[in-house]
Amino acid sequence: MKSYKIAVIKGDGIGPEIVDEATKVMDAVGKKLDIKFNYNEYLMGGCAYEQTGNPLPDETLKGALSSDAVLFGSIGGYQWDSLPRELRPESGLLRLRSELEVFANLRPVKIYHELSSASTLKEEIVSGVDLMVVRELTGGIYFGKPREKLENKAYNTMVYSKDEIRRIAKIAFEIAMKRDKRVCSVDKANVLEVSQLWRDSVKELAKEYPEVELSHMYVDNAAMQLVRNPKQFDVILTGNIFGDILSDEASMISGSIGLLPSASIGGKVGVYEPIHGSAPDIAGQAIANPIATIASASMLLKYSLNETKASFLIDEAIAKTLKDGYRTPDLSEYGAKKICKTHEMGSVIAGNIGE
Ligand code: NAD
Repeated sequence: MKSYKIAVIKGDGIGPEIVDEATKVMDAVGKKLDIKFNYNEYLMGGCAYEQTGNPLPDETLKGALSSDAVLFGSIGGYQWDSLPRELRPESGLLRLRSELEVFANLRPVKIYHELSSASTLKEEIVSGVDLMVVRELTGGIYFGKPREKLENKAYNTMVYSKDEIRRIAKIAFEIAMKRDKRVCSVDKANVLEVSQLWRDSVKELAKEYPEVELSHMYVDNAAMQLVRNPKQFDVILTGNIFGDILSDEASMISGSIGLLPSASIGGKVGVYEPIHGSAPDIAGQAIANPIATIASASMLLKYSLNETKASFLIDEAIAKTLKDGYRTPDLSEYGAKKICKTHEMGSVIAGNIGE
């Protein structure tokens, strides 16, 4: 029997409720395929600050570093908003990502047929969308130096080295090879020198992936195309600031925040989490949608453990559950046949593994 060590960080708000459902589904798939997951729980965020005075205790970091992957729920809550920046829950997450050196953020957007009416866009535009945004996470203008805010002037620096561009592009090409073999690289090469280097470097790397069709798009056009015809995209490859904006735009194509997973990979250990936050407004009521976290567990199996069959079985189980009309209250208006609680949704998905 294969076994893996998973660092589990439940976090704040709805975090514990949704992560419990993801591990329930992982265990169901593990049982089917003879895989054992050994979970170790660690604190991060507001709960970690309350218990240790530190949003990312050393033990959590050490635990993450010695695991095969990190499954994370969500952090944050209004009670910690007035803390100094370094003690706030989000500082814990930012530090975790930086210590693990995860430089690639993956945000898939897949529209489940039964939920295409949940989008604010027309059904015929969104039905069938299945795209992946690959965003560079540790470089670009958010980190470039010099940076300064003066009295009447402020500046930041957008900088990328060829190596940084090649390593994120490699991730995008490798992912495209397992999908529809198309990469659209998004930049602003008509205005920015850094984008010109980006484009040259991506083109150069593309020679190593002759099966992948590479196209280039300016970021302003990409923002427009994402709402005009999102079905045209397979893998979108882009830098940090453009990716920040485009991945949020892309996520809204689905119209349902409770469904979308994400992965931060490429460094020492991958971190897998839903794109939504800790939803303090619904925490503790057992009504949170656990699907984004369960789908993040599926990404964990695929990208960190290379357990593609297990990942596929989870994706299929989610799709079947939605097709059968099970919905948490956030999606009650969209083809619901049975409204269920968070743990019921997890149990139905777990029961649908391999069905
Ligand atoms: P949020 O994503 O937590 O919630 C936005 C809205 O979506 C809320 O109405 C919430 O109830 C709903 N929602 C979110 N996830 C849901 C789910 N799984 N099922 C059903 N409904 C869901 O964003 P927010 O309200 O702006 O932030 C709340 C807290 O989360 C803040 O402290 C913020 O800093 C933090 N946050 C954390 C992360 C993270 O952990 N990565 C990301 C974003 C925000």
